[in-house]
Amino acid sequence: MNYQACVCNLCGTGCGQFLKTDGKRVLGVAPIVSHPVSKGKLCVRGWHANELLNTNERITTPLIRENGRLREASLDEALSLVVRRLGECNGAADEIGLLASARSSNEDGFALRRLAREVFKTHLLGVGAEAGHRNSMDSLSHAFGYPGAVGDLTRIDKADYILIVGTDIARQNPIIGGNLHAAQRRGARLVSLSSSRTQMAKLSTKHFQQQPGTKALVLNALAKALHALRTVNHARHADIDRLAGYTQYVNALRTISSVALEKASGIRYEEIEEEAQILDAARSVVILFPSGISGLDKRTIEAICNLAVLTDRMDDAQSALIPVAGISNLQGSFDMGLSGESGHSVFGSLADPDSPLRALFVVDHDDGIIRNRERIAALELVVYCGAFRNPFMDLADVVFPLTAYNESDGTYTCADRRVQLTRKNTDTPGAGLPGWRLYQAIAEQAGHTWGWRDAAEVFLAIADTIPSYHDLTHHRLAKGFGIHWDITAFAAAGQMKFHEVQIDYPKSPTCEEFPFALMVGKGRHFWHQNNLMRKTLIPRREYDQTLLLYPQGYVEICPDDAQKLKVKDKWLVHLTSSTGTSMKIAVKVSPDVQPGTAYIPYFIKNMISDFLIRYDNAFAAGEESIIPVRIEEK
Ligand code: SF4
Repeated sequence: MNYQACVCNLCGTGCGQFLKTDGKRVLGVAPIVSHPVSKGKLCVRGWHANELLNTNERITTPLIRENGRLREASLDEALSLVVRRLGECNGAADEIGLLASARSSNEDGFALRRLAREVFKTHLLGVGAEAGHRNSMDSLSHAFGYPGAVGDLTRIDKADYILIVGTDIARQNPIIGGNLHAAQRRGARLVSLSSSRTQMAKLSTKHFQQQPGTKALVLNALAKALHALRTVNHARHADIDRLAGYTQYVNALRTISSVALEKASGIRYEEIEEEAQILDAARSVVILFPSGISGLDKRTIEAICNLAVLTDRMDDAQSALIPVAGISNLQGSFDMGLSGESGHSVFGSLADPDSPLRALFVVDHDDGIIRNRERIAALELVVYCGAFRNPFMDLADVVFPLTAYNESDGTYTCADRRVQLTRKNTDTPGAGLPGWRLYQAIAEQAGHTWGWRDAAEVFLAIADTIPSYHDLTHHRLAKGFGIHWDITAFAAAGQMKFHEVQIDYPKSPTCEEFPFALMVGKGRHFWHQNNLMRKTLIPRREYDQTLLLYPQGYVEICPDDAQKLKVKDKWLVHLTSSTGTSMKIAVKVSPDVQPGTAYIPYFIKNMISDFLIRYDNAFAAGEESIIPVRIEEK
């Protein structure tokens, strides 16, 4: 019996986790006290990882669909079939799509990209969280010269001033939420900007509860007030006005009208001016925002980057600007080049009935099934690779078993660019392979020789190919709790720039007929389609308890609106959108949402597929998406 250190694979925080194993099974979990970010803590998901890793719902053997049913097959038979059938498609013409997983290790992601480009010759490759994280990476690259976090998560512990834009970090990345709470208790000013009163907002020193869709406007107003103070104290900030984009930015900020600001966002400029004084006096500033599938829109992220540059704190050793990923290796997936190219979107091809897509290769992913079931079912070949069974297998023609994250060596890059190594610590049940080994076997079957003998050799190829990983090896990473990748590999690192900005005052898309602005976001009970959480006892119990109260899901509205609608908590209502989709759903009466707004956490799969499928914007714009709806008593 022993305890093996590894990295929790369930969100982008990258907490340190001990797995208690007998070499064959994981018997328990314990936190690692000396881990610099998680510091002896794990959230409910991380604490119960052993339940997930011991589930009976593992894929243990290759499977091939025959006469409508999946039957067991040998690895060779499945490999030959996949290579032959994919060989009949023209990858260069976007006939083959690969949907990678942002939970896979860097080694697996790197090998999959090589399989896509070198063997199948396709550019149709993505992880499914492009919209949110691509915005983050592009905006950070422009403002700071490299596509990743500025500073790191440990800076929360000493920061004077912490701004959280959007996400309910306490739910998405609970250990970061805990660290923020601790920072607030020791005296840091914690400020939240979010349209609903999230758990994080409740813990904050100050909550700006703006109208949906106006985060960028409020951030720009805060920048205007900060800049006014900076103008007074010009000598201290002389460098800022020499940065590219400065003149256009401050000229745009000057046009912000306090009357129009208040009308659009509900926030008074005087309140913002008071906040700017405190921000200006802070010695260190940490700014966090959500990134990924429920991230922010481009305009808002650019406003965040501009404000960060304007604070004149981002090049010191205490401050940080971090896109907080909800999925464990989202940053690493982008680093490995899995994020897809513009004009080549897997989901775009699935949604377009005229696209040439004929075959789909999916890794550890079940998003697509919700939005594109019929199209996927009609494809000529669907391949699924994963460690755990999921509903996507119902559509697969061939299934390959993969190892779980603790059953093979691999590295993961969490939200703040920290690359951490997990070593194999138990055997895999059945015939599961590490992803890189499977993709290499497919490449070999197709006549390519890669020659990797273990994950360390794959990582050497990563270090040779990806400049920011140039000085990393498994040997170095094994010595501690990870190393942040090297920003100096990017020639423009440290050359700060402002984004061009346009000030507008978003009007609510609601109208008399559809008077509620519906927002969609995270729920405590539902985690990434819940495929993994449903396999662990305690999180599943929480989910089931909420289902007992709200069996058809719920929409949150404020007490005043409930009174106007003459409905009470748990009563069923009809929710109808401006495009005509509707659903029957329970009301949850909550003081956390503002009058005229409504909030639905991702919670019930059918609800998402039947109602949100018409709203591409709800996926593309993440937290900033708004759907005008009508709510009526049933
Ligand atoms: S916060 Fe994320 S990484 Fe940490 S224990 Fe929870 S799920 Fe795992």
